[in-house]
Amino acid sequence: MAVKKKKIGAAGRLGAGYGKPKERLNVVEQKQRVKQVCPFCGKTAKRKAKGVWNCKKCGKIFTGGTFYLQA
Ligand SMILES: [Zn+2]
Repeated sequence: MAVKKKKIGAAGRLGAGYGKPKERLNVVEQKQRVKQVCPFCGKTAKRKAKGVWNCKKCGKIFTGGTFYLQA
């Protein structure tokens, strides 16, 4: 095995274990794992579609980042 799967974290489950796209995937997935907080009520918001977020608590639908709300 030439691939350093440990080093690339969550991206290790996919194909080749090297290259920039894998590093970027890790960054995105780490941000996705943290709670996405609704800017209106502070509760957890859900991603409805790309860049569209829906808060169950206050019923608001708003735009945000494609994969996560705040950086
Ligand atoms: Zn809300």
